[in-house]
Amino acid sequence: MNNALSIKDALIHATDALTCSDSSALDSEVLLAHALKKDRAFFRAWPEKTLTDQQQQDYTALISQRRHGHPVAYLTGEREFWSHTFHVNPSVLIPRPDTELLIEIILNTIDTHQAINIADLGTGSGAIAICLGLEYPRAHVTAVDQSSDALLIAKQNAKRLNCHNVNFLQSNWFEKVGQSTFDIIVSNPPYIDKADKHLQQGDVRYEPTTALIAGEHGLQDINVIASQAKHWLTDNGYLLLEHGFEQSTSVKTLLESHRYQHIQQFKDIQGHLRATLCQFNQP
Ligand code: GLN
Repeated sequence: MNNALSIKDALIHATDALTCSDSSALDSEVLLAHALKKDRAFFRAWPEKTLTDQQQQDYTALISQRRHGHPVAYLTGEREFWSHTFHVNPSVLIPRPDTELLIEIILNTIDTHQAINIADLGTGSGAIAICLGLEYPRAHVTAVDQSSDALLIAKQNAKRLNCHNVNFLQSNWFEKVGQSTFDIIVSNPPYIDKADKHLQQGDVRYEPTTALIAGEHGLQDINVIASQAKHWLTDNGYLLLEHGFEQSTSVKTLLESHRYQHIQQFKDIQGHLRATLCQFNQP
């Protein structure tokens, strides 16, 4: 008897098994693409092609991990961000489409030919720093993270994506940054309150808590960054922060209390105020 499973049937079984995910069909395809080392177009062209025993075993293992809640990005080891593929592992946050807003805001604010100095605080996989490095070829980007494991991934990503204008630095926010000044400081810091019920749901359960959770109702790191960033900004330099969609008013108040000006807030793809841009006028 031939037990070999066709691509089509493998996908049907997997989709049925992944009731836990609200993107079960997509997850099944992405994981099969990973197990077979093919892209998803291949499945449309060859739905009747059968899996080898090894492929079937690998796929079953992936689907079983996904059933337990492991994020697809950690299972495949990668995630697209700003049309680039970033390697990820559980020591870094999985880049979100929402965070692409930060890149968009900067592109709309500063001309890409400018030889600016950029800092990305809490770089994680390096997604923000590397995309900016690629968009601003004359810029110099300093990407900071306190986690050496995260920096390892970020450096590999920069290398694979041929990004040569990002320097990586292990530091707790500005602690090791030294004398440099920046035209723009950008950060997607931890901003979730530890009691937030979302922490018990979906991918975040597997992501590093140091990249997600902050004290003071999620505002502690934003507060630290805002209080320090002005000392590292050029005159009228920009600070751009991602934050929770219910934090926009608190973030604005906090930035005003640190004497930032020209505060502008931006909505993410779901229509939530998700990012705040401001400037600091050096006295
Ligand atoms: N935006 C992410 C989420 O809500 C969290 C990222 C962060 O804390 N910086 O899942």
